[in-house]
Amino acid sequence: MPRVETGACFCGAIAAAMDGEPFWICYDHDDDCRRAIGSPLTIWVGYRPSQFRLLKGTPKAFSRTPGVVRTFCPECGSSIGYSDEGLPDELYLTIGFFDRPEGLRPQAHAYWNLRLPWVDFADKLPRIDRYSRKRDRKFGNPRDR
Ligand SMILES: [Zn+2]
Repeated sequence: MPRVETGACFCGAIAAAMDGEPFWICYDHDDDCRRAIGSPLTIWVGYRPSQFRLLKGTPKAFSRTPGVVRTFCPECGSSIGYSDEGLPDELYLTIGFFDRPEGLRPQAHAYWNLRLPWVDFADKLPRIDRYSRKRDRKFGNPRDR
């Protein structure tokens, strides 16, 4: 049986299923995400958009940075997703959206240089000071826009 993960927002108005394996799971210490998510850091779980099946509701979309779209529940405000035209065919979901987050283990730290000074980890994962994914150069970096 192929892997299927399910997820929902805090109030349950939005629910989705994710088919197959995520291609990337990463801590993110970036300050934009910190503010958007409301947490000192987040963990993004990366899927292809074709792996994402919305089962209930319609997330609301918001963009502050050109090319970057964040989605959230219009009822309860839970953060759900992140997509970026510089990372085509990649959809990132917050680990808090998942019904079984314990099975989703991060593989690296992104924007390690932007972590809060009291954030520390004993893991041996790679610490990357920029995006952990290879971006399409023609879109530049959201931080520079
Ligand atoms: Zn909700």
